[in-house]
Order: sequence, then C-alpha cells, then structure tokens
Amino acid sequence: MFFPSYRARRMRANPTVRRMVRETTLTPDDFIYPMFVTHGKGVKNEVSSMPGCYQQSVDNLVKDCAEVHSLGVPAVILFGIPKKKDAKGSEAYDDKGIVQQAIRAIKDKLPDLMVITDVCLCEYTDHGHCGILQGDQILNDPTIELLAKEALSHAKAGADMVAPSDMMDGRVAAIRDTLDENGFTDTPIMSYAVKYASAFYGPFREAAESTPSHGDRRSHQMDPANAREAMREAELDVDEGADIIMVKPALPYLDIIYRLRENTDMPIAAYNVSGEYSMVKAAAKMGWVDGERVMMESLMSIKRAGADMILTYFAKDAARVLNR
Ligand SMILES: [Zn+2]
Repeated sequence: MFFPSYRARRMRANPTVRRMVRETTLTPDDFIYPMFVTHGKGVKNEVSSMPGCYQQSVDNLVKDCAEVHSLGVPAVILFGIPKKKDAKGSEAYDDKGIVQQAIRAIKDKLPDLMVITDVCLCEYTDHGHCGILQGDQILNDPTIELLAKEALSHAKAGADMVAPSDMMDGRVAAIRDTLDENGFTDTPIMSYAVKYASAFYGPFREAAESTPSHGDRRSHQMDPANAREAMREAELDVDEGADIIMVKPALPYLDIIYRLRENTDMPIAAYNVSGEYSMVKAAAKMGWVDGERVMMESLMSIKRAGADMILTYFAKDAARVLNR
C-alpha cells in the first residue's frame, strides 16, 4: 500500500525537479562524427539515402571538420573512397591514399580535433569484401597483415586513433604489434569488437561504395541472434590490446551494450549506424515523427544503455540542439 504515501509524480512535477533527478545527460563530448572522403576538388555529393551526409573532397572535408569542431564534437572517423579499387585494396595502405591525405589536411588546420580512421579493406577492394579472397573465402591471416599495414599508414599520416572494423580474428593484436614496432605505442585502438551482420548498414554502402559484388559478410560479422558470443568477442579484443570496444549497430543491440557495460570497465563506443539515421530522417520527412525528438531520444537511450561515446551521423544536428 505505497500509494498515497509514495507519489512518483512528485519528482516529475516541473522542469527544475526533472533536471535534478535526471540520470543520464548527453553532451557534444559524447559524439564521434563519421565522414566520407573522396578524391577531387570542390566535391560535395549528398548521399541520397542519408540526407545531410556527403562524400567530400579533402578541401570541403576540412571545412566541415571545422564546423564539427566549433560545435564541440571532439572527434571524427574517416572512411575513404579510393580512386581505383583492386583485389588487394591497395589504396587502403598507400601513404598517398585519400584517407592519408585527409588526415594530414585536418591535423594541419585543426590539431585538437581527434581524427580516428576506419581500418578495413571493403571500401578499397574491387569485390567489396573486407579481405583477401580465395574463391568465395576471405583469408583471415593474409588479411590481417594488410590491415596492420593500413593502420600503420594512417598512424604515420597523423591519425590519433585507428578503428579496425573488419572482424577478422587476431587483427587487434596484429595492429597493436605493428604500431608498437614502428614507434606508435601511444596510438589507441578502438576496435569494432562486436559487429553484427546487419541490414541496418544499407545506406552506408551507398555512401562508402562498399557493397560486396557477391555474397555477404556473415562469415566474419556476428549473427544478430547471439549475445554471449558478443562478450567473448569483446574480451578477445581487450586481451589483444583494444583501448575502446565498440558495439555496432546501436539501437537494435542496446541489450548488448548493457551486458557489456556490466561485464567490462573498458570504454564502450556504440555505432548509431546509417540505417538507424536514415529511418529517422525518412519518417521525419514524411511528417510521421518529430525527427529532432526521436534523434535525441535515440542518442539518450544509447548512452543510458552504457555507451561512453556514440558514433553518429546526427553528431552535428544533436550538438546544435544541445548547444541551444
Ligand atoms: Zn569491411
């Protein structure tokens, strides 16, 4: 018989008391903004399925980074679109590659903006797979050698952090060893530790031009049905030297973020992926939902589940709301 002595509504009665009892707060510090960089000059092509997101040449990318920085967002993560794709994804580890050029240009103008780089081969291979192929099979060990080379090339260009997204086995250790041997002992690794084979990546593949020419990514990305396996994947990456572990996608996997939060003291990142972004944008455009409120509620829920940082295409929009 708690009622009427206990009335939960007292703590919701007005904005001031709601502020006082609020358990989770978002700030622009929580966000990492994903960006797509392409060759050329003056290029700014909107990704049709991701309104407000662009493939940009380095000059425009740097301008956009200045805006990200001025909004108080601490970091960006870069994805490259190469000039030429080949079977081994050569531009991924070319010191003159597009991501390497972008890193140097951003760090030159905005030394405090943290530049994280996505480390994978799928944007750079002509078959669109994340590694070296033999028939239909992705060869694990030859692939991680190339990934380590790619990470080193990014670090040499000035990347502040590298983020392997390939889901090959042993790649965090291979990258850590290569970075250390070359004097980059202080470059952290954010590993896409728990990455599911998800349909929510659809719009990203348009943005990064990385759709596999055949087959899918189920031989390396995780089965959406598995949660315990996620704990093992995260543990492996931490043992191999990951500094931050990521769960991707975010909203359909809040339970995984929460479980991981209960299981580890490592910083956790969550990737609020393209499909999660595009659905909100599309529904808002149709007038079916209040896009701004759905955006803020989604980001809040990811943080409440236990994420310390959120990779999100909403970073700039959400920072603007928070800075108001
Ligand atoms: Zn990949």
